[in-house]
Amino acid sequence: MPTERQLQNYAALIVKMGVNIQKDQELLIRSPIECAPFARQIAEAGYAAGAREVTILWDDEKFSKIKYTHSPLEVFESVPDWIAESNNYYARRGAAFVSIAAQDPDLFQLVDSAKLDAATKASFQAFKPFYDILDVNGIAWNVVSVPTAAWAKKVYPDCEAVEAVEKLWQAILKTVRADLDDPVAAWERHHAYLNEKVAYLNERQFARLHFKASNGTDLTLELPEGHVWAGGAERTAHGVAFFPNMPTEEVFCLPHRERVDGTAVASMPLCYQGSLIENFSLTFQNGKVVSYQAAKGEEALKRLLETDEGASMLGEVALVPAGSPISRLRTLFYNTLFDENAACHLALGRAYASCIKGGLQMSKDELKAAGANDSMTHIDFMIGTEDMEITAVSKDGQETILFHQGRWAV
Ligand code: ZN
Ligand code: ZN
Repeated sequence: MPTERQLQNYAALIVKMGVNIQKDQELLIRSPIECAPFARQIAEAGYAAGAREVTILWDDEKFSKIKYTHSPLEVFESVPDWIAESNNYYARRGAAFVSIAAQDPDLFQLVDSAKLDAATKASFQAFKPFYDILDVNGIAWNVVSVPTAAWAKKVYPDCEAVEAVEKLWQAILKTVRADLDDPVAAWERHHAYLNEKVAYLNERQFARLHFKASNGTDLTLELPEGHVWAGGAERTAHGVAFFPNMPTEEVFCLPHRERVDGTAVASMPLCYQGSLIENFSLTFQNGKVVSYQAAKGEEALKRLLETDEGASMLGEVALVPAGSPISRLRTLFYNTLFDENAACHLALGRAYASCIKGGLQMSKDELKAAGANDSMTHIDFMIGTEDMEITAVSKDGQETILFHQGRWAV
């Protein structure tokens, strides 16, 4: 198991670099009950870093399953005000949010998908004030992971539970660089590297990107006028730098919602609402998915695409080199936080307003007109391969090889 020192390093990293807690700020931690010991450690680190009050909200996914199994559909069509307030209240107060993402990927497999869809829609509505604040970087937030036995067993099915948890801990500590002597310094270096790529892409303002790989991916997407690449740290509206995700290896932007054409073939399975969607591809025309197929989980893919209008259009394009620390582990984590940082990816659904110049001040209609997609969902899927070639084309038609053999070429 991790040493006390490693755990302290990780907890300190989360509060200092992750949400960059400010003196006398409030800190809200959302944690699975299985991860209680580490959630308490984050709380300690939060106070040590200057927090005035730390609140932990526990999530019990095994109980959630009991509820999904026995409550009727209507129960999931609304969210009680006091639960909505659990996020909205703290967001309005400017608290920092830390979420521990450690779901058992299989738990909801047999749950009625209509109930899961209803719950997704209802919580999007109920937490809208929270999401609206998040959208304009009104608060610092950070998503991290800690192993649970069920999740670890899924990632390492050939190991006993204890061994699987141990292996997952080591993998997580490695990917978040908490296994190093000075993780904060390591993050500062990593941040500088991501910044360099972001600065290059923002300066070049490429008009379009073309992705090609031997598995069949052949996709062209246009980047809207005034697009902004981002990666690593973000800044709140109050100027506080924070890392939304730990680990993070991507630099990302948004494609123009109506200008994506060709086929994207997934290079890793996608875990959606407890179902695994495998060996799938999506074909786009004028930004919209016009056909799709999946060797497994096609029904779940259909549900995802039909969530709302924007769910069949793209809201994100992200570049991750094949040699990133996560991709080197060659492990499917069944957890977007890790899997999306293993390979280049796209996301169906909502775009980040911050990826358009001035987007944080734009209305929904203005964002749409600028090319940003909107949806209640945002689901990443991986397309990066070892042989991926990405060509960037400038406004005057000049081509630059951005990725060669799955890695940065610039
Ligand atoms: Zn991403
Ligand atoms: Zn994403």
